[in-house]
Amino acid sequence: MSAYRLLFFCFAILSFTVGLGAEPTPAKRDTARETRATPEEPGITFNSVHVDGPYIAMTFDDGPSATLTPKLLDLLAAHHIKATFFVIGENVAEHPEIVARAAREGHEIGNHSWSHPNFGKMSDESVRRQLQQTDDAIKNATGKRPTLMRPPYGSITAREKRWIHDEFGYDIILWDVDPYDWKRPGPAVVRARILKETRPGSIVLSHDIHPGTIEAMPSTLDALEAKGFKFVTVSELIRMAKPKASHPSPPPSGNAPTEPVPAVSPSPTPVQRASPSG
Ligand SMILES: [Zn+2]
Repeated sequence: MSAYRLLFFCFAILSFTVGLGAEPTPAKRDTARETRATPEEPGITFNSVHVDGPYIAMTFDDGPSATLTPKLLDLLAAHHIKATFFVIGENVAEHPEIVARAAREGHEIGNHSWSHPNFGKMSDESVRRQLQQTDDAIKNATGKRPTLMRPPYGSITAREKRWIHDEFGYDIILWDVDPYDWKRPGPAVVRARILKETRPGSIVLSHDIHPGTIEAMPSTLDALEAKGFKFVTVSELIRMAKPKASHPSPPPSGNAPTEPVPAVSPSPTPVQRASPSG
């Protein structure tokens, strides 16, 4: 009889320990998500999106590339993943068939300017021309005008954001995950950075013009899938947005993992980045 009781006791201890081990992960993830930077211009600019579920958007900038973009499209098709391409107008004019294929296969196409200049330092007229020419090239290639825009280098003034949104109707898309793949650190580093930073609602930046990025993608996508992430286009992600609590929950005790979140800050002059990301 006492052996029987001992067995029962062991079983009880075991279930308690397993129960403890199972809990922390999702709870921890939720807190991390709350501390991500909020969009600077609510409803116009997005760095990430507050969503209920493991949804993320992969974005690829500066293409299309004649050789690399088709390779990436093959890979995305094999994984049944929809991504978003922020294309350069000049490249669209050169390879409209690649952009047409991407759109046909369910990917979203966004405007990333005609020749990748720094909007933060340009006249409205020049910015307008860059956007309009690219908008036209995308329309010619895909039959549809884009509804998203990403400024080259993430550089854009608060005033530009407003008039571009009013005039073109674009949502302005930045990012919260940046593997600095343009520095060509090698596929393993690109993958590690993406895996470390990606959270539910993340917008992941990378470039389909660097061979190392394309090389990193098969194992990166496998690993993101293994973590349970689901891939949607940026517009789909925005449509899933859930309102945030009016008082954001305080960061967990200790240091928050990201930069401090400005509570409500009308963004000052250009959002200048130290790096040529985007
Ligand atoms: Zn770019």
